[in-house]
Amino acid sequence: MKLKITRSKQRALRRKKEYIKTFPERMRYRRLRLKRSLLLSLLRTLESPKRLILSLGGITAVSAGAVAIALFIIGSQYLAVSFNDKVIGYVKDEAEYNAVLEQAKQSISREYGDAEVVLEADVQLRREFIPVKDDVTPLVDEDVKGILEETSSVLANAWFVRVDDNVRVKVATEDDAKALTEAIEARFAPADPKAEKAFFEKIDYEAAQTRISELKTVDEAVEVLLSGGVQQELYTVQEGDTAWDVGQAQGLSQEQLAEANPGLDLESLYPGDELKLKVITPFVHYQTKGIEEGFEPIPFEVIEEKAGTLYEGQSRTKTEGVQGERYVTRDVTRVNGEVTEAAELASSVTKEPSAKVVQIGTKKRYGATGRLGRPLNSYTLTQAYRGGGHSGLDMAAPTGTPIYAADGGIVSFAGSSGSYGNYITINHGNGMTTSYGHCNSINVRSGQTVAKGQQIGTVGSTGRSTGPHLHFEVTVGGSYVNPANYI
Ligand SMILES: [Zn+2]
Repeated sequence: MKLKITRSKQRALRRKKEYIKTFPERMRYRRLRLKRSLLLSLLRTLESPKRLILSLGGITAVSAGAVAIALFIIGSQYLAVSFNDKVIGYVKDEAEYNAVLEQAKQSISREYGDAEVVLEADVQLRREFIPVKDDVTPLVDEDVKGILEETSSVLANAWFVRVDDNVRVKVATEDDAKALTEAIEARFAPADPKAEKAFFEKIDYEAAQTRISELKTVDEAVEVLLSGGVQQELYTVQEGDTAWDVGQAQGLSQEQLAEANPGLDLESLYPGDELKLKVITPFVHYQTKGIEEGFEPIPFEVIEEKAGTLYEGQSRTKTEGVQGERYVTRDVTRVNGEVTEAAELASSVTKEPSAKVVQIGTKKRYGATGRLGRPLNSYTLTQAYRGGGHSGLDMAAPTGTPIYAADGGIVSFAGSSGSYGNYITINHGNGMTTSYGHCNSINVRSGQTVAKGQQIGTVGSTGRSTGPHLHFEVTVGGSYVNPANYI
């Protein structure tokens, strides 16, 4: 058990001890100690009324001076401050309670932009007078603040900002209320000093009380006024989504979706597009109308040029385009920063753009795919390609087996050709040719266009041949290559 003795008394006792050490008045010191111990035992008995009665006999032995001190200490009682029947701390007097409460209020006020804090009467902390106790814990302003905030019993003398007589936002001070329109004006300040500026709505403010948690900072309040208090939500378009799907999933009609996304073509959405899900209607509209001038780019033209050196579908940039520049003066109307009207008053070109020239290929590909197919459905390879030795593959198959064009192209030769016998060559138009020798029959003629996989003849043994087979050749850029690497 520990007895609460005030600090000044502790200090006085300490001083007395030191004094006795330096000036040994031992007898006097001993007397003093005796008085103190008697006093302590008396105070301990006082904690319980029963013990007090039992010890009454002992008190008579105490000197009159000691009793006087004891009464003094008994007299310094504490106020227990409780909330919801739970003691949260002790104070010495009403003044200390008020001081702690004031600290808590100031701390809340600071958090809410120096709002004038008011406490609701019905949640005042309960105070009750109690006799001195062991372990007296002081009342802490942070605890009081926490309780006040939890019970949301804190009101503020605030300023309600009204837009066309509707309260739209609440701020802590009159300065904050004034700062709102100034902040919006500053945000959308036009460059033209002679610009016309006006709020569409009547904006004013009045003093009123509100829950302190409803107060907004100037920045927050500006956002509320400009967004109509609506928090925008975005949806990222996924593969396969249509506007209809998104609308269904989000509970929005197509009209609402279109309204929330002006300038976006809902008919053609691409994965990654962001759709706004909320229609934003600002509470406040600030319009500016003034002269805006400055340089802006002039886009360059793109000129297409036919080029016989490139294949169809191919293109090549011959000359890069360069943007021009012009100085433009416009009369621009903006609402909350967005351009709603713009009339060009004057413009002068400061730099001409130069066109981009793109060459577009016209050379026929004859349907070449660039990937060769097999000229026979099934065959036995009887002789491989050997550079300089054997210019193609010998593919054995029964006489009459269909031969197919390995790729699309134009027949450049179809007829008898010495040791090749009946011979077909197809120019694929991409620098590649394929040739087919020893044919039994030929189904195409020179100059004819053929498609990949189209039958052009049949397997035979014409020319210098020891049995029915197809001699199949491929050239790239005029040189024989191993067909096995292409089919
Ligand atoms: Zn051969």
